Amino acid sequence: MTLKDKVCIITGAASGIGQGIARRFVAGGAKVVIADLKREAATRTAEELTKAGPGEAIGIEMDVTSEDQVNAGVEAVVKKWGGVDVLVSNAGVQIVHKLESFPYDDWKKMLSIHLDGAFLTSKACLPHMYKKGSGSIIFMGSVHSKEASPLKSAYVTAKHGLLGLSRVIAKEGAEHGVRTNVICPGFVKTPLVEKQIPQQAQELGISEKQVIEQVMLGQTVDKEFTTIEDVAEIAHVFASFPTNALTGQSLVVSHGWFMD
Ligand code: NAD
Repeated sequence: MTLKDKVCIITGAASGIGQGIARRFVAGGAKVVIADLKREAATRTAEELTKAGPGEAIGIEMDVTSEDQVNAGVEAVVKKWGGVDVLVSNAGVQIVHKLESFPYDDWKKMLSIHLDGAFLTSKACLPHMYKKGSGSIIFMGSVHSKEASPLKSAYVTAKHGLLGLSRVIAKEGAEHGVRTNVICPGFVKTPLVEKQIPQQAQELGISEKQVIEQVMLGQTVDKEFTTIEDVAEIAHVFASFPTNALTGQSLVVSHGWFMD
């Protein structure tokens, strides 16, 4: 199973988990598109990964909630590299509040980035995959695709929603050789999580140490964070798996926090 010369669009790949997946794919010989809100960071990441090789990367600015930017970005990739083989819809943010004080604008922003982003990028890539008769779509879910936590109503709702969208695309895409799967990581130390630690400590009235040891890692089998490399390895398997035997699935990678 190889991604050599496969064209892979990864959203939110200028940082954290998306960047780690991009690094893994380029190391496997892929042509990777770092699609991110942050143009400079996307370009910087692409340059760094291309230097490391043996694959190559380009950076493009893309807000996954903008239909025009998503369509323009995917079209530019198809023009440059002739198609799209893999989409990793990974861009995401976190906003935490108790439900009764959750600002409606923040709720809409969360659903838009996580769900509209997955919908719009899939919609833009699918026709190109159908034309080729093959493709792999990966959504970045979370343990919160299967489990709930206080303060995270919008995140949990969006991450559960990705399972449904993925299963529909698995059914519609099967006759065209297009597979879709969801990765569900536990806590991974990225800027998204670093930001949550003081916020949750304040909202829950506990120390930052307690947030890490009790809230984030309390249910794991070994009190360990999942790593970016762990998630990237799973992404590589989903992206390169060659048949519809592996579609419509979700895989939890969380040090046993959640067990199916
Ligand atoms: P991160 O903050 O390190 O990276 C997120 C990236 O997404 C950033 O580069 C940001 O610029 C980009 N982004 C944000 N909004 C965007 C938009 N509208 N359009 C395009 N790009 C946008 O976060 P991360 O921890 O690497 O998270 C990546 C994904 O993994 C998210 O979907 C997150 O929900 C999911 N996830 C993270 C964890 C974790 O513990 N870190 C666990 C489970 C799932």
